[in-house]
Amino acid sequence: LIEELRRKAAELLTSGDVKVVIGYGEGPSNGRITPIFITDPANVDKLIFDTRCKNNLAFYLKKPDVTNLGKMAIVAKGADARAINVLLLENQLNRENLVILGVTLDDAEQAKLDPSEAFRFNTPPVYDFLFGKEIPNKGWEETTFSLLDELEKMTPEQRWEFWQGHLSRCIKCYACRQACPICTCTRCIADKNQPQWVPTSPHAMGDLHWNITRAFHLAGRCISCGECARACPMDIPLNLLNLKISKEVFEQFGFQTGMDAEAPPPMATYKQEDDQSFIG
Ligand code: SF4
Ligand code: SF4
Repeated sequence: LIEELRRKAAELLTSGDVKVVIGYGEGPSNGRITPIFITDPANVDKLIFDTRCKNNLAFYLKKPDVTNLGKMAIVAKGADARAINVLLLENQLNRENLVILGVTLDDAEQAKLDPSEAFRFNTPPVYDFLFGKEIPNKGWEETTFSLLDELEKMTPEQRWEFWQGHLSRCIKCYACRQACPICTCTRCIADKNQPQWVPTSPHAMGDLHWNITRAFHLAGRCISCGECARACPMDIPLNLLNLKISKEVFEQFGFQTGMDAEAPPPMATYKQEDDQSFIG
């Protein structure tokens, strides 16, 4: 897989078809990985892909430092490709300016994983070239998340206590938003101060306000890559909150985010047959 991927990256850069390849490389220490941006075909040997590559590279497709380089190629596993589909659906990306190098894990590596969010959809739903085997993705019905199951078994009072306990630790650093490939608003509601929608200092009501607001802004848009929870310095399981909403969106609208760049987003679509029993 990796040799083929490197060969294709070199070919695209040498021919001038793309100006930069966004991928994963070895980090400076402790076996950690880091995003890399290759502009010189001589450097393609730095590209790697394995189970450590959980971070969502689609995040960089909107960063001017990268987009200013010219046409981009991106190494995309399932979660990254789903984020790309959301950005395409929202007209935030130009598909013609992008070459998607889809990657999948092999069976042995996949078997070692939980249905961890970053790898839940192993095969990218969109790609130009695929490196690795195409493996049928499991939908919501076939996937279990033990933490979500536990949460759903709680009484409303227990759930309230659970979230109050977690969200009251928020320090309003906004790392969750900064790491999110879908939180791409040029001016976030948290930064608006006329009026001040979200209190800036960390206190219980404001923390709840911020996190619930963000979760709702991601309804039908979150692709469950888990980047928010990985970025949170307070170890708040934000992905669980978003996962619950994604499950509700699937159950109410049959919509799995990021699987199709043409599918109308449920939060922006009205259908006569939508359940309206919640009104009145
Ligand atoms: S929290 Fe809401 S307003 Fe802020 S960047 Fe995310 S989607 Fe945009
Ligand atoms: S990353 Fe964690 S602590 Fe920082 S704003 Fe988000 S939820 Fe709060």
